Amino acid sequence: MLINNETIIKDNDPRIREKSQPVPLPLSQEDETLLRELYQYVENSTKPEIAEKENLRPAVGISAIQVGVPKQLTAVIVRLSGDDDEEEVVYRYMLANPKIVSSSVQKAYLESGEGCLSVADEHEGYVVRSARVTVQGYDLLTDQKITIRARGYLAIVLQHELDHFSGTLFYDHINAGNPFPKVADAIVI
Ligand SMILES: [Zn+2]
Repeated sequence: MLINNETIIKDNDPRIREKSQPVPLPLSQEDETLLRELYQYVENSTKPEIAEKENLRPAVGISAIQVGVPKQLTAVIVRLSGDDDEEEVVYRYMLANPKIVSSSVQKAYLESGEGCLSVADEHEGYVVRSARVTVQGYDLLTDQKITIRARGYLAIVLQHELDHFSGTLFYDHINAGNPFPKVADAIVI
């Protein structure tokens, strides 16, 4: 499947609101191929030369429904650069049927708000999510069931991608009447 900024479905397409279904494991050839293509999109999207040539918008994650396939498949690549002498840490996942099994009461949000490959317009406001989540699912990259204990930016990204499975977009979480709420004890990223 050709995945680029033209073929990714946007929020004016009703399919983006569809619920995604779990996929059978082991993955079918078709599902495995799609998951690898989603991952490849994310990987290539942050390489400027390829991204420009292939019309890829930089992303840290993409879910299958964003290419019109209502299946619980998502690819995530999050790079966290350490301070000065700390090395960059990269979290890479090719997930099938990931589920949030626990979430912290403490909240977190991105100070600059969120974006999405399926949302062309800016939507200003805090998307308040859990600061920590535990996600379980099958990871094709390591070919095993995994448990991800995510915090900070990675936790935000996973919650954003898993929201796509229920047809939820990031701006659904923004309170139009109070887009920049004060959230007690929240971690601001
Ligand atoms: Zn998104």
